[in-house]
Amino acid sequence: MPSEYSSTPIYLYNTEERRKTQLKPLEHNHVRMYTCGPTIYNFAHIGNFRTYVFEDLLRRTIKFFGLRITQAMNLTDVDDKTIKGAIDKGISLNAFTEPFKIAFFEDLHTLNIEKVEYYPAATDFIPQMIQMIEKLLEKGVAYTGGDGSIYFSIRQFPRYGCLSHLNLADLKPGGSERVSNDEYDKDNISDFVLWKKHDPQRDGNIFWESPFGPGRPGWHLECSAMAMQLLGDTLDIHVGGIDNMFPHHENEIAQSEACSGKHFANIWMHSEHLIVDNKKMSKSLGNFFTLRDLLAKGFSGPQVRYMLLQTHYKTQLNFTFSGLEAVKESLQRLNGFIQRMYEVQTADSKGLVTPVLDKALKDFSAALADDLNISVALAAIFDMLREVNRLCDNGLVGTDEAQKVIDLMKRFNSVIGVLQFEQNAEAIPKELEEALEMRQKARKDKNWALADSMRDFITQRGYLMEDTPTGMRLKKKETSLNVTG
Ligand SMILES: [Zn+2]
Repeated sequence: MPSEYSSTPIYLYNTEERRKTQLKPLEHNHVRMYTCGPTIYNFAHIGNFRTYVFEDLLRRTIKFFGLRITQAMNLTDVDDKTIKGAIDKGISLNAFTEPFKIAFFEDLHTLNIEKVEYYPAATDFIPQMIQMIEKLLEKGVAYTGGDGSIYFSIRQFPRYGCLSHLNLADLKPGGSERVSNDEYDKDNISDFVLWKKHDPQRDGNIFWESPFGPGRPGWHLECSAMAMQLLGDTLDIHVGGIDNMFPHHENEIAQSEACSGKHFANIWMHSEHLIVDNKKMSKSLGNFFTLRDLLAKGFSGPQVRYMLLQTHYKTQLNFTFSGLEAVKESLQRLNGFIQRMYEVQTADSKGLVTPVLDKALKDFSAALADDLNISVALAAIFDMLREVNRLCDNGLVGTDEAQKVIDLMKRFNSVIGVLQFEQNAEAIPKELEEALEMRQKARKDKNWALADSMRDFITQRGYLMEDTPTGMRLKKKETSLNVTG
């Protein structure tokens, strides 16, 4: 990456401070980032992937500006839901979670989400979690409840509520009862469980031995222990979906900071919800989609990625099938433009392209550095596309310049990750190329019958003939999809 961009200040919206703050990694040019990953008890839905695509955009942007990144995304393989799933099926926890773990990585691949450095599974860090609980007990911020489970006392941690801006003083005295559920809401602000005592009826034979008796860690503790173990006591960035802000992230802060005495994360970022046709996505409304559902309807990974990416992460994303169709057209325009650049054959350069490219790169970079302003960044690409196409129409783009355009599109794609760069991405069958040649010749010879039959031969095989500045060429017909919301 060119050095002029590594010094670009990056501003990100910090939930805790409620304003944009400059990213200043604790370690020079090295960002340590933690992202809450999936609970592997089912297939992730497109709302989950909205968050993961946003996190990928953030990661790629950090790298675009020349910084190094070390990122961890946890896989929750032990919590209320995975234990229930394993027990219902009568199989081990690992046998239950493994297929969903494999599916998750397949989905990441489909969406071109970069592999991060660490994917810790909660069950691999039980000793570290136990150590944290021991420390919290020693410090007097944790206690053993009447049910034998260990709880965190939120009244012992004055900063509790700093992220979701809750005021603990508003709680009625004695209003903070204990919850042992992994998930609860703001109406239920309470001491939360760190170690859940084993209950054979509920947990079957799924438990770990500990100094506090057999049991298993609370979900919130898992992230704190793994983040601190892998990335250090203070993270540069901690990211997640907005629905994890309370109680999950609030509890992560409480446990981590009470344990280490240090600030847990310098920047907290949260992505907004995804809704479908302006309604909350839910199985009961029949508007619930996994990535796999969309692929089965004929949409591709790049299309879904582009759709999830193009709305700013702090804006609610309204998913519709017509929106997804529109994305398909945008992608075709971008990929068609790249193909056109590969086909430029003008030898001399007029020097008109470089200023257009410089402006596009400048605008694209400035937009991303401003809290990932993706719509402005995408607009910079489309402005460049229009301008270069106009020059190209007038024969003012040389092969050298076309190559520069392709190189810049590759740099843009290092962030957006949706474009195709193989020249003639799809190989055209040889007999069709021959038929096209025969048709051209037949037309020259005014043999209209033969020309027509060659045209039919081509179109029946799903190809179109396209007149381009460099002559006729074949293009695969886009199959129109028959989808309903
Ligand atoms: Zn988490």
